[in-house]
Amino acid sequence: MKTAVYPGSFDPVTMGHMNIIERSAGLFDEVIIAVLRNSSKIPLFTIEERVKLLKIATKKFPTVRVETFSGLLVNYLETKKVNIIIRGLRAVSDFENEYSMALMNKKLKHNIETVFMITEDKYAFLSSSKIKEIYRHGGRAKDLLPENTEQFLIKKIESKLESREKF
Ligand code: ADP
Repeated sequence: MKTAVYPGSFDPVTMGHMNIIERSAGLFDEVIIAVLRNSSKIPLFTIEERVKLLKIATKKFPTVRVETFSGLLVNYLETKKVNIIIRGLRAVSDFENEYSMALMNKKLKHNIETVFMITEDKYAFLSSSKIKEIYRHGGRAKDLLPENTEQFLIKKIESKLESREKF
């Protein structure tokens, strides 16, 4: 049984993430999406909201589940007895950070393998932060988000703007 972990912030999940999830589900027996709790970035959505949106979006994949983790990814992998990390690559700009992270994870635990999946070209420019920026300024990009995610995003941004909360 080959299980892989797909870690990230998923703030919120986009069609770029979904593309990687769907392709990973075709390669591995089981995929655990691991949502990072202790990111240095201030998230728009709470961890519970990010998990909820991912669960709704991945309902159709029976071998995919959603969990959360904090601390070092390699420690989380050890508790799960998993040694495969999936990461998506968009542009060359992703590469440097991903490269050093993969090497560092391997240094921390030698049996860890990071599997990189190249994005589909239609999602190469897509990131959660771009989506948030577009929606914050009233733009819409429905086809880049899983069904249901858009309505949550619009509501969340409206409530943040109403309460003048920074995000
Ligand atoms: P992180 O903060 O860990 O980068 P993200 O949620 O931004 O978390 O991304 C999680 C993973 O998904 C990363 O490997 C990232 O490169 C990948 N990813 C994000 N957007 C896309 C996309 N449009 N196409 C392919 N991979 C993507």
